[in-house]
Amino acid sequence: MPGGSNLPRVSDYNRVLVVDLVRRHPGISRGELAERTGLTTQTVSNICTHLSGQGLIEEGGREAVDGGRVRTVYRIVPSGRFAVGVHIDPARTVLALVDLAGRVIDRSTVPMDADVGPERVLDTLTRSVRDLMARNGVRGATVSGVGVAAPGPIDQGSGAVVGAPMLPGWELVRIRDDLAQRLGLPVELEKDTIAAATGELWAGTAPSDDFLFVYLGAGTGGGVVLGGEVAHGSSGNLGNFGHTVGDPDGARCECGVRGCIAATASPYRLVEQAAGAGVLTMPTDPDPVVVEEALADLADRARSGDGRALEIVENAARSFGHAAANLVNLLDLDAVVLGGPNWPLFAEPFLRIVPGVIEDLHLFRNVHGVRVVASGLGDDVGPIGAASLVFAQAVTARPSLLTARVG
Ligand SMILES: [Zn+2]
Repeated sequence: MPGGSNLPRVSDYNRVLVVDLVRRHPGISRGELAERTGLTTQTVSNICTHLSGQGLIEEGGREAVDGGRVRTVYRIVPSGRFAVGVHIDPARTVLALVDLAGRVIDRSTVPMDADVGPERVLDTLTRSVRDLMARNGVRGATVSGVGVAAPGPIDQGSGAVVGAPMLPGWELVRIRDDLAQRLGLPVELEKDTIAAATGELWAGTAPSDDFLFVYLGAGTGGGVVLGGEVAHGSSGNLGNFGHTVGDPDGARCECGVRGCIAATASPYRLVEQAAGAGVLTMPTDPDPVVVEEALADLADRARSGDGRALEIVENAARSFGHAAANLVNLLDLDAVVLGGPNWPLFAEPFLRIVPGVIEDLHLFRNVHGVRVVASGLGDDVGPIGAASLVFAQAVTARPSLLTARVG
C-alpha cells in the first residue's frame, strides 16, 4: 500500500533535490532552482544557506542580468563530501575514493583470494578503506559512507552476501553491518549489476530513464532502470540473466535449456570454446583470476586478427544482443548500456554487433529506437557505482524518498 509523506521528509527531500540540481547543473541560479523545484525563491534561498553551511554547495559568483539585477549562481563543493566505493569482483577488488562531483580522487586494487575466507577478506577491505582515506587526508566527518558492490545473491534485510557461487565459502557474510562496525561509517550494499546501473544514473551518463545495463564481469547480468529509478526486485537480486537464451542453437545448459548465456557466453565458457578451437590452452585451474587472464588472451587474439578467436567473441556479442533484446521487449526499454570490468576487452566487436541484433529482434521498432552505448563511466563503473550507492542515499532526489512504507 502507498505510504504518506510527512513534513520532515518533504523538507529533507527539498534539500536533497537542490543539491542534486546544483550537482547536475553547475552555475544554476537561485531563480532557476526555484523554477525547477516549484519552491518559492525564499525557500530556495533558505535551503541554499543551509547547504552552504554544511559545505555541500557554494556561491559560484553573482552575474549581472538585464535591468541591473544580479543573480546568484551555485555550484557543488566537490570536496564537500566523499564516498568510498568498494567493488568486490571474484578476480580482484577495486576501491575508489569518489568526491561529490563524481570524480575518482584515488583508487587501489586488492588481489581477491576468496579462499582465505570472508573474515580475512573483510580485514583487508577495512585496512584498504582506511589507507585510502588516510593517504588522501580525508577525515571520517566528510565521508558520507562506504558503498559495496558484490556478486549476488545478497540479502538486503541482513545486508549479507549469501552463498555467492563466485565466492566459495561465503555462505552468509554480513558484510554491511560488519564493515560498518569496523569502520564506524555507514555502509550500503548492493549486487554489482544494480550498483553499476545506479552509478550510470547518478553520474548523469545514462542515455535514458529506461535502460538495461549489461554487466560483463566474472559473472554476467543486468541492471535495470525504469522511469528514472533503479529496479531492485523483491530482494535486491534483480538482473540475473544467465539463464536467458542468447544462442538458440548453442550448447545445452545445466538448467536443461539450450543456449543460455551461462552455457554459451560466460567467461569460463568462452575460454572453454577457445581451448576447443585450439586458440589457447585450457587453464587447469578454474580460478576467476586465471580464467580472466585466458579471456584477455582470447580478446587479444581476436583483436590481432585470429579468425577463430574473433568468431568466438562475435558469437558472444550476438548472444548478449539476443538476451538484451528479450529484456528490451519485456520491459519496453529504449537504451542498453554495456560495461563492467571485462568490457574493455570486448568493446569494439560488441558495439559493432549488439545494436543490429537488438534492432532485428525489437518488437516496437516502429514506435521507438533503442540506443546501444558503452558505459559513460568506463573501467570505473564498478567502484563509482559502489560509491554512488552512498550518494544516491544521501544526496540524490528520488520521489520514493518522499514516501514512508506503511505496513
Ligand atoms: Zn541455463
